[in-house]
Amino acid sequence: MISAGSPEAPVLVRREWCKGCGICIAMCPKKVLEAAPDGKAVVARPDDCTRCETCEIMCPDFAVRVVAKRAAAPAGRREAVADGR
Ligand code: SF4
Ligand code: SF4
Repeated sequence: MISAGSPEAPVLVRREWCKGCGICIAMCPKKVLEAAPDGKAVVARPDDCTRCETCEIMCPDFAVRVVAKRAAAPAGRREAVADGR
């Protein structure tokens, strides 16, 4: 079962894989995620999500997925950032 705060939630939590460690909840810079009574993460404030992907990167159990990724920067801009411009 996948839990989400709304049908348009940018982040999905796969509840059967979530062990309720709370890492994603603690690391989310926008406080989008909260613990359900069973400790598992739920998407409480989907509208505040910036799609930074921190939760997906930090979850040790691959239980969080950011389904609406941010658009990649154009190649020219990526090179400029890499060069510090
Ligand atoms: S980091 Fe992963 S396992 Fe831990 S609470 Fe979040 S979704 Fe669940
Ligand atoms: S993508 Fe970023 S802002 Fe959205 S829930 Fe995950 S950590 Fe929070």
